[in-house]
This record gives sequence, structure tokens and C-alpha cells, in this order.
Amino acid sequence: MKDLNRMVEYENLSDVNAPFINEMVPAFEKMAKRGWFILGEQVREFEQKFAEYLGVKHCIGVASGLDALILSLRAFNFTPGDEVIVPSNTYIATILSILHCGLKPVLVEPDIAAYNIDPSKIEAAITFRSKAIMIVHLYGKHCNMNPIMELKEKYNLKLIEDCAQSHGALYNGKPSGTFGEFGAFSFYPTKNLGALGDAGAVVTNDDELALIIRRYRNYGSDVKYYNEIIGYNSRLDEIQAGFLNIKLPHLDRLVAHKRVLAAMYLDQLSNKYILPVIEDGYYDAYHIFAIRHPERDRLKKYLLDNGVKTEIHYPVAPHRQKAMQSILDSHEYPIADEIHKTELSLPISFGHGVEDIQRVIDVMNRFE
Ligand SMILES: *Cc1c(COP(=O)(O)O)cnc(C)c1O
Repeated sequence: MKDLNRMVEYENLSDVNAPFINEMVPAFEKMAKRGWFILGEQVREFEQKFAEYLGVKHCIGVASGLDALILSLRAFNFTPGDEVIVPSNTYIATILSILHCGLKPVLVEPDIAAYNIDPSKIEAAITFRSKAIMIVHLYGKHCNMNPIMELKEKYNLKLIEDCAQSHGALYNGKPSGTFGEFGAFSFYPTKNLGALGDAGAVVTNDDELALIIRRYRNYGSDVKYYNEIIGYNSRLDEIQAGFLNIKLPHLDRLVAHKRVLAAMYLDQLSNKYILPVIEDGYYDAYHIFAIRHPERDRLKKYLLDNGVKTEIHYPVAPHRQKAMQSILDSHEYPIADEIHKTELSLPISFGHGVEDIQRVIDVMNRFE
């Protein structure tokens, strides 16, 4: 029997992984006894299975989502100072990857309903130095791809998809990460497909780009001790790959579970809340269930007082971060600011049951 008075946590990673632990423990023992810890059969299997899952030719496991973004940009050999278009409303990692490559992030405001980059505002940000668009399928909702693909073709830009929040999301039936030259994934423990530590992957349909990423992640080498380019050490850990191999077959079920919980919120939450949009052609993965309310901070406190933990994604917009002050122009990004001021993330994990979400809804609908 569940204790009806217990807190509804935002996300409990022990609960999320509980259904897999029985398989993970013997798998760990097997891997430990085998004694092969870097770039072994588990990484190869995961790369093959994840590529199959997405319907792409190549998947290259790397150390994290941030590294997946950095190596993707590196692969193009852009000139320092070249510009990359990126949404103003994202997790800071997206923008950091551009800065770490010596490139210039050019921020474009999001659509206030979808929270993703507003395609109608991209063209005005394109200059003769624009080389790439790095889009983010934020909160697990796919970006609006038709206009973005048109601009990519028209201006001959590379496209990198930050898929750290969009495992399992679709646009017109096509998986997130398969539209651009690269899809960059994170398997950070909270993501829809989460490891038990840091992990990431780059996916691509381009043979040559895949080879470059393989070199970059492993000291620039194809053959041990022979280095072709100035590489990194950014490999997907063998043991994490082993855990991901156990969870990957359940990813669709995990996303489907989140969608059941999302449907409860969408059906039942009162209209005092601004809810995520649902549009034809989009299969949303609900990494995060983001609502907005003008008195977000008071609401958050009220929920906590009533046994519901929530999060904010994110409290400070990238352009307002201290780290960015000397780097970004003094442009204003009022839409990003508005989202950051009003956003609240509700519990929606694989570890939550419908009774948890019902409690959240009941408490929320009593908020005055
Ligand atoms: C989590 C996240 C990343 C970074 O992934 P790590 O694996 O933590 O490096 C990048 N972009 C977005 C949008 C994210 O949510």
C-alpha cells in the first residue's frame, strides 16, 4: 500500500531504475568479470541498437551530451568566429558547446507557445558568417522542422539537433535526431533514456562525419597509438553502455508512460495554468512537463507546502548567466526571460504512478 500522505517527489531516480535493477546487477557482474572497460562489446552493441532504433546509419557513443554537441561542431572545421544560430531558451550546455569550439552563438528567441526556436525569426539572424543552426527539442517537444529545413537548404547551413531532452520524440513520424547532419544525445541519469552516470552519443547518416566523430572521441585515432587529428578522450563508458542496453528496449514504453501522465495533466489541470501545446504531427516525449503561471514562485511554494515537489527549467536564462556576461551582446531576449520567469516543471517520471499525478492535479486545482 502506498502512503497517501507521502510527498510526491519531482523525480526519484531509484524508482525510475527499479524495474531494471534485477537485470543490471548480474550484467554489471558479468562486465566486471570480463575485464574490458573501454570501447568493448557493450558500446558496440549500444551504438548499433540505438542507430537501429532511430533509423540512422551511425551512432557514436561519447562521454556526455555536452561532448556530443562539441564533437559535432568540431567535425565541421569551422573558422573561429563563425556563427552558430541557437535558441535563447535552452539549457546552457547548448551554448557552451559553441563557445568551446571558438564559435559565436547567435541567439534567436523561442515561440512563446512551443518554447522552441521560432523559425520565423531565424532568417533575420543569418549573416555571411552563419555556418550552422543548433536547434534544441526542449522539454521533449520537437522543433518545427519544415521551415527550419527550408532555411538550412536556402542558406546552406549545417544542422545539429540537441536531443538531450527528446529521446523518443517524433516530428511527422520521423525521430528526433535524424533531421540534421548530427543528432547529439545525452544519457544523463534524468533524461528519458538515462544511464547510471554520464553518457552521450552522436548520430549521423554521413559516413565521413561518423568517422571524424569516432576519431575525435578517442584521441584522434583509428588505430591505437596512431593519431590522425587533435582528438579528445570522450568515450561512452563500457559499463554505462551495458546499462543503456538494458534500458533501450523499454524507451518507447517509458515515453508512453510519460504521455499517459501528461494526458492527465492536459485533461484535468484548470485553465489558470498555461499548458504545453499539442499539435498535429508532433509526438511529444515529455522529458519535462512545463507549465507556466504568472505567480510561479508562489505556486511552487504552495505545492511544496502541500506535498508536491517541482523544479524550474530554468531559473536563469543563458543570456543572464554570469558566465555569459562578457560574451553575449547586450541584446534583449524578452521571450526567453518571460519563460524563465513563469515556468514550472511538474512531476512526470517513469517512477510516478497515475495516483501521484492525480494528487498533483488535485492540489494544483485548489491553488488560489
Ligand atoms: C542535459 C542537457 C545537455 C547536456 O547533457 P550532459 O550529458 O549533461 O552533458 C545539453 N543540452 C540540453 C538541452 C540538456 O538538457
